[in-house]
Amino acid sequence: MASIFTKIINREIPSDIVFENDKVIAFKDINPQAPVHILVVPKKEIATINDIKEEDKELIGEVYLAIGKIAAQLGIAEEGYRVIANCNEYGGQEVFHIHFHLLGGEKLGPLV
Ligand code: AMP
Repeated sequence: MASIFTKIINREIPSDIVFENDKVIAFKDINPQAPVHILVVPKKEIATINDIKEEDKELIGEVYLAIGKIAAQLGIAEEGYRVIANCNEYGGQEVFHIHFHLLGGEKLGPLV
C-alpha cells in the first residue's frame, strides 16, 4: 500500500509543497513543532533508515542538497536549523517512508 507521503507525491491528498524535483519533495508538516517545520522526503518509498541500500547513497545526498536549498529559500539558512530523522519505535517514527524533519525559525531547545 502506498505511504501517506506517496499519496502526497501523487497529489492524492493535499499538502503545502515548498520544494520538488524529480527525486525529492518537501512540504509543511501538518502538526508543526517549530515556526518552520518541513518534511523532506525522497520520492522513492524506503520504509526506514535501516532499509537504505548502497544504491540509495546518491538519493540521500539529493535529500541534503534539497534541505540546503529549502533552508535558503525559507530564509533560515544563516540563523540555522535542525534536521531530524526518526527510526522505528524508539525513534518515534510514525510514517514508514523515510523523511527528514527540517525545523527552524526560532532558537530550538535541547535535542530531547
Ligand atoms: P515521524 O514521527 O518522524 O514519522 O513524523 C511523521 C510526521 O508526519 C509528523 O510530524 C506528522 O505531523 C507528519 N504528517 C503526517 N501526516 C501528514 C500530512 N498529511 N501532511 C503533512 N505532514 C504529515
